[in-house]
Amino acid sequence: MSTATPETPEASPRYALEIRGLRKTYAARGGEGEKEALKGIDLSIPRGSIYGLLGPNGAGKSTLINILAGLVNKTSGSVRIWGFDQDTNPRMSRASIGVVPQELHLDPFFTPREAMEIQAGLYGVPPAERRTEALLTALGLGDKMNVGARSLSGGMKRRLLIGKALSHSPPVLILDEPTAGVDIDLRRQLWDYVRELNAEGVTIILTTHYLEEAEEMCDRIAIINHGDVIADEPKSALMGRLDSKTMTIVPMTALDVVPAELAARTDVSTTLTVGGALAMTYSRSHASLGSLLDLVHSAGVEIRDVTTSEASLEGVFLDLIHGNDQ
Ligand code: ADP
Ligand code: MG
Repeated sequence: MSTATPETPEASPRYALEIRGLRKTYAARGGEGEKEALKGIDLSIPRGSIYGLLGPNGAGKSTLINILAGLVNKTSGSVRIWGFDQDTNPRMSRASIGVVPQELHLDPFFTPREAMEIQAGLYGVPPAERRTEALLTALGLGDKMNVGARSLSGGMKRRLLIGKALSHSPPVLILDEPTAGVDIDLRRQLWDYVRELNAEGVTIILTTHYLEEAEEMCDRIAIINHGDVIADEPKSALMGRLDSKTMTIVPMTALDVVPAELAARTDVSTTLTVGGALAMTYSRSHASLGSLLDLVHSAGVEIRDVTTSEASLEGVFLDLIHGNDQ
């Protein structure tokens, strides 16, 4: 092992996290071959942000989080947490981050108070500086401090895990799928709490496969798919991409070319489907369905049927992957 070079703690680094060329290949297991879960990820997460890592199941989100948490060993690449390199300064980098894992795993034999105290102890927080009661109260677990973890509901367990992640007061908090299986009321409470933490200066990174969640909470969103980052931009820019909608016109007689009037439009992307229907993708903020129907009509196409579909996260993935309209 190389001797750790002491690094000067940065009070306020520009980036809470800097990830470079991060790769993870899982060894083969039970009949499956090796799995390249992360294929060389670069991400710079600004201090103070609420940053969303969005992606479908299996994209590699938890792998990334678990590497940050020190639970999974990376194959290659570098990670700096709060300015501290994970390899050369593991202690400081670990102290700078709190991670709420995806699985609701808690030792059933400890009460929330005990679980919090043990966690604080693991991080070397002296008893006088522990925040067990304050955190549990803030998380709405004030009356559950001394019950067995077994009797906690899923939502309570999630909150206790957040408390544990915060027990050493890290400047960076990571939540892996925090609202999976959580009801609407609790989700709202969680978000309010997360926003409060962020207002106090904690950088928040959350993963989700719910687009609405990323939309509501995050100021910047990265999309990850099959182990690659395929978008990393301010929420407003990403949402702009989602503004698209597709209308499919089934004509009385199948078409074999896109009518010139439609092909010439730059605000609509028109393609033919296999069945000779017109698929028109347009931006809702720039074109209305009515004006498009008028256009189709004036191109002499007789309409048998019309269907529309909203842009979906899948649509955005497809867009990004194929560099084309959905
Ligand atoms: P996400 O959190 O985005 O759903 P994961 O990081 O959990 O994705 O998984 C990414 C890929 O790595 C998936 O194909 C998953 O099956 C695989 N994977 C995850 N953990 C392991 C493991 N311990 N061993 C082998 N493959 C794994
Ligand atoms: Mg996951």
